[in-house]
Amino acid sequence: MREIARTAGTPTFVYSSATLGGHFDRLKEAFAPLDPLLCYSVKSCANLSVLRTLAARGAGMDVVSIGELQRAVEAGVPASHCVYAGVGKRDDEIIAALEAGIGLLNIESEAEFENVSRLAGQLRISVRCALRINPDVDPKTHRYTSTGKKETKFGVDLERARRFFQKYGQDAFAKLEGLHLHIGSPIYTVEPYVEALTKTCALIDELAMDGVTIRSIDLGGGFGADYESDQSPSAMDYADAILPIVLPLKQRGVQFFLEPGRSIAANAGVLLLSVLYTKQSGEKRFAICDAGMNALLRPSHYGSFHFVWPVQPSNGLVPPTRSSTLAMPGLLAQDIVGPLCESGDFLALDRSLPPLSRGDLLAVFTAGAYGMSMASRYNSSPLPAEVLVTGGRVALIRERETVEDLMEHERHVTVLL
Ligand SMILES: *Cc1c(COP(=O)(O)O)cnc(C)c1O
Repeated sequence: MREIARTAGTPTFVYSSATLGGHFDRLKEAFAPLDPLLCYSVKSCANLSVLRTLAARGAGMDVVSIGELQRAVEAGVPASHCVYAGVGKRDDEIIAALEAGIGLLNIESEAEFENVSRLAGQLRISVRCALRINPDVDPKTHRYTSTGKKETKFGVDLERARRFFQKYGQDAFAKLEGLHLHIGSPIYTVEPYVEALTKTCALIDELAMDGVTIRSIDLGGGFGADYESDQSPSAMDYADAILPIVLPLKQRGVQFFLEPGRSIAANAGVLLLSVLYTKQSGEKRFAICDAGMNALLRPSHYGSFHFVWPVQPSNGLVPPTRSSTLAMPGLLAQDIVGPLCESGDFLALDRSLPPLSRGDLLAVFTAGAYGMSMASRYNSSPLPAEVLVTGGRVALIRERETVEDLMEHERHVTVLL
């Protein structure tokens, strides 16, 4: 990390190819009886080199915009191995996805289906579609990332699903033939999946009575990652709960998709920062770093926990666990904050850490997913650099932005009206 900071500077996201690949392989192995197309969720960490690492292992991609589809294709994944979800697909995005030969369009509403049907008919391009159903289960996660309850904007509730197939099941070009679920993230127990899939199987039986055959099921993503302690089920734990419910469908020829993002990318990345200043205000100690919510939004947006530790602790202490309050001697309670003009600009609050001083390097753990992909340029902060470690090879996979880059799109002023 010290050598990476010396050569690439900070703030920098550092990813491990081995960890990315290891998580992918474990999911593939755990779900092997379903032989699913494992579509990595591009939005969790979208760097082209990360996508290529997973593409080389046979990953498909889960995309939620045409920009993400372009990235997937650029990384060598054919559009036919991509699934496309999202409540607000624009006409130009739908047309581009149809023309590229998208593998599966996940439909979120009646209005969207009618639009897809119209565009596919005009272009005379057939496309496989799956209806995103909202099974009304509580994934017991942050309300911002809970997506399978009735009051969220995603999918169609089960009562409407049957009518949906009756009304739209015979479309000439938009071939409605699958079901899609993605109920939230991160989901730390298997029960919400069990509940959602049990309801899905009941729906499939009802649809069969209507003469509708479901050919594919996209199980979504949402598997947990290890942020704090080993609280997350393993790939095998999720599979052990899910497989018994859906294997009978596999035997009837149903094709399966999975859309994991966080469980692959989260702990494959750390955010490397430098301490700019330390400061004490009353009893409160702050370490002010060269990035905060601009690089990693999760703590201030979701109240998420990320373990933070110095690259070279001043007192040599190595933490026994990642729990937030370590009862070790020689530690001081400190807030790890960023440089932005917001009190919400923090990465970690009230953490027991070795004494920090100016120039220390800090590693923010489990920052690979929804880190860089949610980073902003607030306060004219150039986006961090990204580095990928593959065995002994350390490669800069995204150059650090410059302020020149930020101003580039503002230099030329065009009078419109
Ligand atoms: C974000 C998202 C995923 C990935 O979720 P993770 O928690 O990162 O696994 C999968 N499918 C859809 C439709 C999503 O929006």
